[in-house]
Amino acid sequence: MVHRVFNFNPGPATLPLTVLQEAQKELLDYSGLGMSVMEMSHRSRDFEEIIGSAEELMLEVTGLSDDYQVLFLQGGASLQFAMLPLNFLPPDAVADYIITGSFASKACQEAERVGKVHIAASTKNDNFRSIPEQHDIKLSDSPAYVHITTNNTIYGTQWKYIPDCGEVPLAADMSSDILSRELDMSRFSLAYAGAQKNLGPAGVTVVIIKKNLLERASKNIPAILSYKTHAEARSLYNTPPTFAIYILKLVLNWVKEKGGLKILGDINKKKAALIYDIIDKSDGFYRGHAFKEARSDMNITFRLADENLEKIFTEEAAREGLIGLKGHRSVGGIRASLYNAMPMEGVEALSRFMKDFMNRKG
Ligand SMILES: *Cc1c(COP(=O)(O)O)cnc(C)c1O
Repeated sequence: MVHRVFNFNPGPATLPLTVLQEAQKELLDYSGLGMSVMEMSHRSRDFEEIIGSAEELMLEVTGLSDDYQVLFLQGGASLQFAMLPLNFLPPDAVADYIITGSFASKACQEAERVGKVHIAASTKNDNFRSIPEQHDIKLSDSPAYVHITTNNTIYGTQWKYIPDCGEVPLAADMSSDILSRELDMSRFSLAYAGAQKNLGPAGVTVVIIKKNLLERASKNIPAILSYKTHAEARSLYNTPPTFAIYILKLVLNWVKEKGGLKILGDINKKKAALIYDIIDKSDGFYRGHAFKEARSDMNITFRLADENLEKIFTEEAAREGLIGLKGHRSVGGIRASLYNAMPMEGVEALSRFMKDFMNRKG
């Protein structure tokens, strides 16, 4: 038996075991071709089949029609922070950003380098413990688009509704909760996610874009930064991260076999509730960072009343095979990332550890 830990890292993160096993089985000889996917031409029919089914599966599991195109790009979510305004923020227009955490701020700062930006809402004043309500959002007169971050990986908050922006295109960074729950994806004109949290290995970034938005993209930018270039070339403008796309395809198959987003969303809710319940019943021994109504089902952030115990907590947990629990330096404390691929047994093991730790130290 291979030794596997329960990996609570925020990203790169744990992947479904069956996906890794399948990749292992096909590593030396993919489909009788006598070579690995890594060694294959990205222009070969066999690779086109892989990327084509990854596109189809992405539309299928998100419930989107072919009004949308799926792109597999590089540069992470961070490149999307720049590509979005470069393509869709013309010189005389304004883009609206909603600031709910570090990555949302970074996205906004990149847009400020390109053009004019309006901050339509921010939760910085409560140290990003909340998500703005609809009535807190003050859009500018006629924004080119509105940008949100659906899940705030560092602070552990998550949008529970999709803001109503009227006819204005809504763009979203979904890096840390894409495919984690049922969501009306057709409300978004553009969604992007670095794969390394909920979709696959680092190196590939998924962009889902509405075709009628593509028409509006700027023509005065380098080809490599243009969504149109990649859309026309079906993500094969230059050599894409072929192996990462192949693993992503296996993960999408796994999502489908699991029963899709409604079922995964229910499981994710149960997993998160198990940990939040312990925090809530701990009499202040554990203290959640996010306000209850904004809590993320993906990244659970909390501190210990006695902050000196936090290091001991992560060290003891690691000895029990529960790794990656150290919080981000801007929140401190503990962060448990419970992405799709974290099995219920891992969450149960963490909950037993948390109870036991509290009984011993509380
Ligand atoms: C991890 C993360 C990013 C950064 O992603 P890179 O792929 O490293 O550029 C951006 N946004 C969110 C919400 C994230 O969780």
